[in-house]
Amino acid sequence: MRIVLVGPPGAGKGTQAAYLARNLSIPHISTGDLFRANISQGTELGRQAKAYMDAGELVPDEVTIGMAKERMEQPDAAGGFLLDGFPRNVSQAEALDAMLKSEGMTLDAVLDLEVPEDEVVKRIAGRRICRNDSSHVFHVTYSPPKQEDVCDICGGDLYQRDDDTEETVRKRLEVYHTQTEPIIDYYRGQGLVVTISALGKVTDVTERAMEALKKSTQHAKD
Ligand code: AMP
Repeated sequence: MRIVLVGPPGAGKGTQAAYLARNLSIPHISTGDLFRANISQGTELGRQAKAYMDAGELVPDEVTIGMAKERMEQPDAAGGFLLDGFPRNVSQAEALDAMLKSEGMTLDAVLDLEVPEDEVVKRIAGRRICRNDSSHVFHVTYSPPKQEDVCDICGGDLYQRDDDTEETVRKRLEVYHTQTEPIIDYYRGQGLVVTISALGKVTDVTERAMEALKKSTQHAKD
């Protein structure tokens, strides 16, 4: 299966992507994680991306599309993948379509995670992420770790992302509305969009997502 996950910052894309990818036995490909890995490894690509990320802006397409393409060409992605955070604008969506078409492939579904804006800001401001695994996510109020700043799952250090400050979150939301939301219409035109609510317990959202994906891909086959 080839799936794209969309939703505003704080919708829980990373968390859901990790569970869904495991359930569907496909790799979880997050361009945000790829950029953060490049930053922590001190690469030239990381250096180029960091200023945009800290400002809540999109990293230019020339950098992003090449990086995403390279990752999708790895052998583990030959049988499918779950994209989290890519594409993030219409030209990236067009580039992805062209990339897939040249291999005789198509997307199976675009899962749109819906969450009200005030909830997004609350979720992000208290978010703490594990340095070992970005799908180990906590919240200082909603799901605090047993020991402050220590991951319950693997014992790793928890940290707050540099771009999770209130000011940057507002900018990221604006970028989401102006640049990323239009891809939902773009994919709606291809009949690929499935929208679910991202509110409630993580496990409930995963279940909702699996149900919706099952229905939509079944529908596509009928
Ligand atoms: P994320 O982890 O998906 O929230 O992404 C964090 C930041 O990485 C974004 O705010 C952007 O600055 C950058 N980024 C991630 N994916 C993309 C993309 N597809 N296009 C451009 N910038 C991206």
